[in-house]
Amino acid sequence: MAPAEQKYAELHLHLGGAVLPRILYTYLQRKKGDRIDQHGSTIASQMLRRFPTYERFEKRLTKASTTLDQYLEAHKIVEPLQSHEALPYFINRLLRGCTIFENLAYLELRYNPYYRLPKGLTLHDARDQMEDIVSTIAIAAEACAADYPIVFTQILCLDGRLSREVNEAILETAFAMPNEVCAVDVAGPYSAYAEREKELLHLLGRARAGGLKVTGHAFENQEGCFPKILDYLDRIGHGIQIPLRSPKLLTKVAQRGQCLEVCPTSYFRTGTIKSYAELAPVFNHCFDMGIDIAVCTDNSALHGVRLPLEFERLLTHGIIDFKKMEACRAAAFRHAFRWPGNSQ
Ligand SMILES: [Zn+2]
Repeated sequence: MAPAEQKYAELHLHLGGAVLPRILYTYLQRKKGDRIDQHGSTIASQMLRRFPTYERFEKRLTKASTTLDQYLEAHKIVEPLQSHEALPYFINRLLRGCTIFENLAYLELRYNPYYRLPKGLTLHDARDQMEDIVSTIAIAAEACAADYPIVFTQILCLDGRLSREVNEAILETAFAMPNEVCAVDVAGPYSAYAEREKELLHLLGRARAGGLKVTGHAFENQEGCFPKILDYLDRIGHGIQIPLRSPKLLTKVAQRGQCLEVCPTSYFRTGTIKSYAELAPVFNHCFDMGIDIAVCTDNSALHGVRLPLEFERLLTHGIIDFKKMEACRAAAFRHAFRWPGNSQ
């Protein structure tokens, strides 16, 4: 299928940063008095004690940070709220926003299913419940497909903070659910990735050999420059430090036909860049080398910046022109793992 005109494809959006703080908070207020879902009600009460007003909740979730590790802390607050019971509500509201305010035709939603589970499960139970999470998200998306017609698929994230067994279980969940899950990703702090690189690369190799697509957070900031992972990726999550610091690696990136998932607002929020001008070499080098860039939001709900606005800001700062904007918009559809007609 040709890219839908004037529509957008979002390739890099984390569930933890996809649901607006206002929607999360409304859910907590409703959940607080739920007598049937005791677990949900307890979490909601605890959270409302910690953040007695919406303003405090929003301020915490959207707080500026100076490092990626600090920035990731907001996800730790959101993840336990996105339990199995809560997910249909959040997915419905997410897809509503993506349709009405963002003009999305395609969405790959990524998340770590393990972080949505209650604590203290055995590995066996965790494995079962992760499949439930994936199914629930898929069913909730399907249920609103008539109202919000977005081609929707899921990416499961591996994480260096988790044990080998848990990461293996996440990979097995992805293998077990090929209709719902298109790919795996590696996310989390780069310090944790560094400690488990060999193990994680082995899992990415297995993912590819088993027919899954692979994307991975890499070369996002100075700490994230791990060249080995590039051999395993279909797309590169961020990758901006390749043109900025290691342009020699671009030759191979171009030969492999890899696309960079560039999420401009994130780099301000993690203290990686201070001005849009710093992104100019990223786009210029990649265009010169014929490397595709898909502009993405990463965590649009925590940034308050939806995908069309990411493009608009790149335009107004003179980083891209309208021709390059169109090239990036079309590239996202070409590199989408499940856009109808793309080879899989
Ligand atoms: Zn990300």
